[in-house]
Amino acid sequence: MNPSEPVKGRTSAAAWSALRTQVRGLLFRRGEPSYEDARRALSWNARVPSRHPAAILRATDADDIAVAVRWAAEQELRVALRSGGHSWCGAALREDALVLDLGALRTLEIDAAARVARAGPAVENLRLATSLAREGLAFPVGHCPSVALGGYLLSGGFGWNSGIFGPACARVRALEIVDARGERLRLDARSSPELFWAARGAGAGFFGVATSFELELAPLPRAIRVLSLEFSRAHAEALEADLAELLARRSAALELSLLAFPASSAHELQLLAVAFGDRESEALELLAPLSPLAARARHVEGPHPASFADLLHRLGAFFPEGRRHGVDVFYAERSAAALFGSVAAALRDAPSPHSLGMVVPAPPLDPAAPLADMALSLYAPSFVGLYAQWEDAHDDAANLAWLEVQRTRFRPLACGHYVGETDLYAEEGRARRCFAPPAFERLCELRERWDPRGVFAGFPLSGAANR
Ligand SMILES: Cc1cc2nc3c(=O)[nH]c(=O)nc-3n(C[C@H](O)[C@H](O)[C@H](O)COP(=O)(O)OP(=O)(O)OC[C@H]3O[C@@H](n4cnc5c(N)ncnc54)[C@H](O)[C@@H]3O)c2cc1C
Repeated sequence: MNPSEPVKGRTSAAAWSALRTQVRGLLFRRGEPSYEDARRALSWNARVPSRHPAAILRATDADDIAVAVRWAAEQELRVALRSGGHSWCGAALREDALVLDLGALRTLEIDAAARVARAGPAVENLRLATSLAREGLAFPVGHCPSVALGGYLLSGGFGWNSGIFGPACARVRALEIVDARGERLRLDARSSPELFWAARGAGAGFFGVATSFELELAPLPRAIRVLSLEFSRAHAEALEADLAELLARRSAALELSLLAFPASSAHELQLLAVAFGDRESEALELLAPLSPLAARARHVEGPHPASFADLLHRLGAFFPEGRRHGVDVFYAERSAAALFGSVAAALRDAPSPHSLGMVVPAPPLDPAAPLADMALSLYAPSFVGLYAQWEDAHDDAANLAWLEVQRTRFRPLACGHYVGETDLYAEEGRARRCFAPPAFERLCELRERWDPRGVFAGFPLSGAANR
């Protein structure tokens, strides 16, 4: 089908006009002149997928959303959703669907005394973190400034200081949604345990529109210190023993990220360590086990004091706006120390100097505090991210081919995927592998109960493998 043509579904022109008169938000139908700009704006990744929704509604509020969901159900059009558009694989872009763009739902209210925030799905990490810091409060916001809360919280959300704060979705106390009937509901653990369970981890498979989140806040750590160590690639293997020792001794309040860069980059290998303490001495003590590694580093930066905003800008600098991305992530049983050498080797040959590989050791699991009962259900010792980034569409083929080679290379090590960052289009059954098997089964059962007509688009490639 020609993307500039309107969709020739059963929806009549009169039905589209009726929708337009019932909502306050702007509607962009396929075939209209401004449609392509609205479609491209659904994706933060400049490599916008070629999937073409039937129309995009920039909803102004929950009332618009309720009207649009009821209308789409009548028209048998599937509904897809976009809060901030940061899904690496462009999950909001669904062929022939009605996409609700929630970018205008940006309300943020903080009740500092109760340590609760109410936030719309389009509120970004940086805004939340800086607003909270002014009140002496914090939340496990994701690692980059412009990522929005909607997809992040529904996916689980692994943010700064998650060793102490836990996954972000575990701090969602309640949320407001529009369900598949177009009804507005408030979900919490007591009043609606099934939907609340699903909303904490289902990611793109959630069967409702989250219009507002109630977040449980934490006191702001008063002494955050960042230490960055740069190593030469030749040392990758030799670091393993020191890294293993560090991982065995570290506290949950020390967040570690191992970064590897291509041969064409100015960087080679980096260990970023962030200590979250309340006093300077406490933070420095958390960093003390890094001394043997610092002695091997070719460049040491820090420890420096940092705010949450500094941390966001620091990691965000690796992912500037406007680049083309091909990304995949996986969990591994193998320790981060053992994996780093092979990720470093994989990155060496990446065609673009902007690409990076990341190995993140999961925070030590506290046996006294297991994962809460929620759709976010996988835990593994390591998280690996392969982030291919480039600037020119002519380089798509070379970069995607590199990513595919790495996917094949690491497949035997992958024991699952994170629904928030994985490429859900990479293969049949990918969504299934983002959950513990009983959790995935429960998600499918709940979807059938709460969205029996399949109003919401659900996981991409739905079908037997992803149901
Ligand atoms: C630069 C960058 C850094 C990142 N860092 C982290 C990180 O540190 N930790 C982490 O956990 N993740 C991280 N991510 C992944 C990120 O959390 C997910 O991409 C998430 O989906 C982003 O939220 P979004 O609202 O922008 O997504 P969108 O692309 O808008 O939405 C993705 C999908 O989520 C669902 N969805 C979104 N909003 C709603 C809603 N309101 N109601 C119902 N369904 C909805 C829809 O199915 C939608 O298609 C990062 C991504 C990027 C691009």
